[in-house]
Amino acid sequence: MKKILLDENDIPKGWYNIQADFKTPLDPPLNPKTHEPVGPEDLKLIFPMGLIKQEVSQERYITIPEEIRDIYRIWRPTPLYRAERLEKALKTPAKIYFKWEGVSPPGSHKPNSAIAQVYYNMKEGISRIVTETGAGQWGSALAFSTQLFDIKCRVYMVKCSYEQKPYRRVLMENWGAEVYPSPTKLTNVGREISEKDPNTNGSLGIAISEAVEDAATHDDTNYALGSVLNHVVLHQTVIGQELKEQFKQIDEYPDYIIGCVGGGSNFSGAAFPFVRDKIIGEKPDLKVVSVEPLACPTLTKGEYRYDFGDSVGLTPLLKMYTLGHNFVPAAIHAGGLRYHGDSPLLSKLTKEGYMQAVAYYQNEVFEAAKLFAKTEGFVVAPESAHAVKATIDFALMCKNNNEAKTIVFANSGHGHFDLAAYDCYKNNQMKDYAHPEELITKALAELPTF
Ligand SMILES: *Cc1c(COP(=O)(O)O)cnc(C)c1O
Repeated sequence: MKKILLDENDIPKGWYNIQADFKTPLDPPLNPKTHEPVGPEDLKLIFPMGLIKQEVSQERYITIPEEIRDIYRIWRPTPLYRAERLEKALKTPAKIYFKWEGVSPPGSHKPNSAIAQVYYNMKEGISRIVTETGAGQWGSALAFSTQLFDIKCRVYMVKCSYEQKPYRRVLMENWGAEVYPSPTKLTNVGREISEKDPNTNGSLGIAISEAVEDAATHDDTNYALGSVLNHVVLHQTVIGQELKEQFKQIDEYPDYIIGCVGGGSNFSGAAFPFVRDKIIGEKPDLKVVSVEPLACPTLTKGEYRYDFGDSVGLTPLLKMYTLGHNFVPAAIHAGGLRYHGDSPLLSKLTKEGYMQAVAYYQNEVFEAAKLFAKTEGFVVAPESAHAVKATIDFALMCKNNNEAKTIVFANSGHGHFDLAAYDCYKNNQMKDYAHPEELITKALAELPTF
């Protein structure tokens, strides 16, 4: 069988909250100044209560409102594919599957959370949502979602991406969003930074600070974040629950689950329903593998400790794997994997050994993506290509060991807006970066201690 499809009625009715299955509770987010746990009041300025409650919920399943399921129907359930042509090309006895999130209108997993976030804001009377975007994946998912609910959207887009990647901007504008190159002259943070350095390229950290300031200073406006936070990961569990059902249909269960990790939302969403089986002792041998760039090796080289979510230090402190909030990764093409931290949920599970991580150079990642396009046809996002590379490596290991294992990877999105990166690879112009150890040590030394 080539692909395993579910019926629209099989779209999950609840999101799965892995906190309910933790043996010890998650360390709470802390106020950046007092270092005391943050309360709902601290977050109310920029998030709706519906999402704040989900952030700290200990309930195992949270009902998905019917209005959200109805929008999910546009592209969900997403297909699970068997990559037989890739298996043949590798001459591996392993079975390779992938769960394909590239079928959503913006082309990635991100609207699974964007739709939910916009819905809860709309319910609480918010009429405008602001956010930041790097490469434009999150911005386009939010623009798509706000438009469906008739809510205004403003996106602070990192200036160098705004200039280098016009098509994601056009996509956001086509969905009715206002898009500005950050730093802008529209916020205090933006004005200060532009005055100091008029030629700055901008950064995700600066764009976050601008969006947060905008939300905090307008009553009708909230902020939305595309990854890292518990409620974002929660929304993405529709992926893993469908995946589990699809495996059940073919009477299979994976030995390996693999996915790329930027802030951790797509992979956590795909993996957590399976990680549950590992936590409760039903599937002790399941391997759950995160893949990241060597240029931003958060899980493989970072430390598990409290750090800020942004570069300015305005956000709550989160306990997570981090390279330090002052960490500036090289300009690799997988823009979505260039974040200094990771989801606290995924970080804790990694620390406790339920999940593991590997890291790669970008040339080998694109080589894998090229083989994938040749055999399976899909041109994947540079982020997703990291998962392809690790999958190929595990499949080749199975070949060496002559083991017919079952491997599945989370294929988070298509690469149709990333063809310049493929061109760069084709022309041998792609540089490999591994972030130097001494810079990691330096950035970690600048973390808050208490
Ligand atoms: C944003 C993005 C990622 C990285 O974000 P996560 O929160 O780690 O999932 C991965 N793949 C694609 C296609 C993305 O757009």
